[in-house]
Amino acid sequence: MWATTTSVGYHEKTNAPVLGESKPMPQPHPRNLRRRDDGAIEVDWSDGCTAAYTARLLRDACPCATCRDQRAAPVAASPLTVLSAAELAPLAITGMQPVGQYAYKIVFSDGHDSGIYTLEYLRELA
Ligand SMILES: [Zn+2]
Repeated sequence: MWATTTSVGYHEKTNAPVLGESKPMPQPHPRNLRRRDDGAIEVDWSDGCTAAYTARLLRDACPCATCRDQRAAPVAASPLTVLSAAELAPLAITGMQPVGQYAYKIVFSDGHDSGIYTLEYLRELA
């Protein structure tokens, strides 16, 4: 087997790590997006990884300010809580639109559409 040489981004003389210079880490990007029969979104990433995202996973990980606040201060679950019709309906992803080159806006069937998911974040969720 051949040894491969890889550039690791260290300064050639001091051996100190070099940050933010000429060789940024390549950010994987989606090559292909598709909706599965069960409603989950499947993404083929440029680095060869394929990941599936269910509507529930993405909704619970919504990075918008409102959802972050809700997760930071969760309301204690009450057995008397009555679920609304929207909460009882199966959650689905109704839209996924690119925002610039590095993020997607995801629209859910409950009407929530303020989450902007960066590619980096989607990879973390994979
Ligand atoms: Zn949100």
